Amino acid sequence: MPTKKKKGGADIASFKLPELLKGFKDVLPEDELYWNMVFDTARNVSEDYSFDRIRLPMLEKAALFERTVGKGTDIVEKEMFTFVDKGNDRVTLRPEMTAQMARAYIEHGMVNMSQPVKLWDIGPMFRYDKPQAGRYRQFHQWDLEVIGSDDPVIDAQVIIMLNSFLKRLGLKVKFKMNSLGTRDIREAYVLELVAYFKQFRKHMSDTDKKRLTKNPLRLLDSKEPEMQECKAGAPQLIDFLDEKARAHFMKTLEYLDEMEINYELDPFLVRGLDYYDHTVFEIVTADDDEEKAQNAIGGGGRYDSLMPLMGAREEVKGAIGAAIGIERVIIAMKEAGIEAKKKQNPDVFFCQLGDAARRKGLHVFESFRGTGILIAEAFGKSSLKAQLEMANKKKVKIALILGQKEVLDGTIIIRDMETGSQEIVPLEKVTSFVKKALK
Ligand code: AMP
Repeated sequence: MPTKKKKGGADIASFKLPELLKGFKDVLPEDELYWNMVFDTARNVSEDYSFDRIRLPMLEKAALFERTVGKGTDIVEKEMFTFVDKGNDRVTLRPEMTAQMARAYIEHGMVNMSQPVKLWDIGPMFRYDKPQAGRYRQFHQWDLEVIGSDDPVIDAQVIIMLNSFLKRLGLKVKFKMNSLGTRDIREAYVLELVAYFKQFRKHMSDTDKKRLTKNPLRLLDSKEPEMQECKAGAPQLIDFLDEKARAHFMKTLEYLDEMEINYELDPFLVRGLDYYDHTVFEIVTADDDEEKAQNAIGGGGRYDSLMPLMGAREEVKGAIGAAIGIERVIIAMKEAGIEAKKKQNPDVFFCQLGDAARRKGLHVFESFRGTGILIAEAFGKSSLKAQLEMANKKKVKIALILGQKEVLDGTIIIRDMETGSQEIVPLEKVTSFVKKALK
């Protein structure tokens, strides 16, 4: 048998559908209720706390993330989708939004606006991570940034706001808190940390050995089993904080106490990125065990020293940001047995019989737009029995039936699905008759 050839000569029979990329996924309609609920709640909470929406692009110059997220971090070293575009620019699919927010703040002169500037956005991020449960190469974040204030009340407010968001979704969470002090404090601390960990060098995995030379702070969140005991005796950053840094952290915690936020101190929380100062935090579900804690729902921190590093004017006092992982929130909701709000059920089902009725029916169906009445249909079906079965399944109160005769008479049948009683009404008044019947 001759193989089918496409116009261009390509062999159709030998075409193999390329599968979905590893680490990427289709969000199917059955999950849409969850996605809607989380996106709607994120928007409502952002507005409740006077954050302004900014819509950032997915592609940026690679140098933006290399500068801000930092060389030597996992993200920049291993996880960025970076390529050279047709204009010879090295570009990156964004792995996070803070760097973009800071760029936008500087680029659009937001320093001239009333400070602090509060911004939010939601959308996909890309990290060439090892795919596993709750870890994808494309995932979504709701991101919040407050730029132009170093006041600890802002740190607390961001946390209170995230808590309120998660509570509205029905989740019970715990915040893990730490302070990373300032760059100078960390430099002094890292010297001590390296001296301490060096004695365990020969027991360390290759990854941790690399961390010891490249990014010693990351040793503190090493998940390697052999490191757990060594970590327990390591010097803690909190003991290195100077007066000012300590006061900033204490004040933040006081506000959290005031608002009865569920938090605990975690001296090993350093977060993956280079740019944090002072407050850092991560969010886990309240009953989380250590293993699941790897799958944080969200996290954030203050990044006062990043702004000048990016070229912001001196008067930009400081900034704090947070990101929530949407997929992780949905996983946590499902694990906790939280159901997403159901779509509203239609009240009416439109049935048609014959071509003339189908043609007229398209108009009838459109006439319900803007009436507030939810109406379903099955124009693809021609049997009345099949359509009434669908109407039954959808548990509508009313079925509308339009046949050849009704089209000629300019009428339509309104059928009460509970009693089976029927009424013939003028077609042009169908919406008002349905409204009355639904009362
Ligand atoms: P990060 O910017 O790494 O602190 O990430 C903030 C939040 O985004 C995390 O707490 C996760 O909820 C989520 N997240 C980070 N990386 C991934 C990933 N690869 N897949 C799914 N969610 C992620």
